[in-house]
Amino acid sequence: MKKITLLFAVLFSISINAQVSTFTFNITGTQPAGFATALTIAGQKWSNYLQITVPVKVNVFIVNASFLPFSAITFANGRKNFTNAPVPNTLYVSTLANQLAGSEINTGEYDMDIYFNLYTPYYFGTGKPPANKTDFISTAMHEIGHGLGFYSDGYVDANGIGSFGNIPPSAIPISPSFPWRGQDSVPSIFDKYIIKASGNLLTTCAPQNSSALGDSIKNGAVYFSGPLYANPSHSNTPIRLAGGAGTYTLGVDLLHIHQSYANTIMSYYWGAGDTVRIPAPWELGILKEIGWNIKAVGLKENTTDALAMVYPNPANSSMVVVGKNITTIEIYNLMGELLQINTNVLKEDELLINTEPLKNGIYFLKMGFNYTGQNSIKKIVISH
Ligand SMILES: [Zn+2]
Repeated sequence: MKKITLLFAVLFSISINAQVSTFTFNITGTQPAGFATALTIAGQKWSNYLQITVPVKVNVFIVNASFLPFSAITFANGRKNFTNAPVPNTLYVSTLANQLAGSEINTGEYDMDIYFNLYTPYYFGTGKPPANKTDFISTAMHEIGHGLGFYSDGYVDANGIGSFGNIPPSAIPISPSFPWRGQDSVPSIFDKYIIKASGNLLTTCAPQNSSALGDSIKNGAVYFSGPLYANPSHSNTPIRLAGGAGTYTLGVDLLHIHQSYANTIMSYYWGAGDTVRIPAPWELGILKEIGWNIKAVGLKENTTDALAMVYPNPANSSMVVVGKNITTIEIYNLMGELLQINTNVLKEDELLINTEPLKNGIYFLKMGFNYTGQNSIKKIVISH
């Protein structure tokens, strides 16, 4: 009888390029120990994934006030109808607009204002935060993420009237350092990918400035549906967004990924003691869909699915892979180099890999499945 070894989820990244950060931070306020370092790390982490050639200018304010209704808040600057704008009459956050234009088009303005409220018990270290502390690096990555494109101009006013690009300055708690983009009268590029469960686009399913649009924004689940990159990064299905629960909350609904998603920087709910410092594939897929170029990054183990099992692991001279409709099997070393291997079909949905030629060490086993187009990557150990 065969012994089946169950694999446990370990998020393990093998090669993230070290690179000079393309973020600049202008910090106002009294900095706690480790603040600037943690902020720089957050920027660096995004730089590892995005092709940023026009430096991103972040204006940071440190406040400490229990009466302010946020732990952290971001106001994103933006532009519409700029040179090389892919979609007309659409607001692009200025980080992306600058990138698409190929040069800085908002000279003299910051790309985003971020307020951090130290009333929140932040952890400024790089390790795991204590259970009662909020991870600052994760929070800063989240806030910067809004300035990179997780940004909505949707709004429902007190009378239930829905709109895009018609957010009154009086609705926001603080004025940004640049002209308020909420009154640009157009949806953001992120908004243009939002659909209802029916498949209808949220921005065009009802007239601008109508109660019908307000109802559509408030009622029923909303999804980001990007056919080129976002959905394929998410099992070819749209990504659910926050909102649609019968009410509308500015700064919460539409521009966050739904709270049901784990390990997702841009979800609204992740708590004390947690860290989320690696963008989920669907977050990078969304950013690519709206116009960012994503860097090729190292393979990451993905064991959150139950698509296939591998045993024994560690393996000596051979390893068995069990899974439905596996069409490709590849083994990579830690440098990301594809290695030559031989496989034999044992029976339906069961393959034998000859691991004899592999030296002792850690490798990545990448499996492709023909029925979903999905890949599964598992860390394997060879020990002869
Ligand atoms: Zn947020």
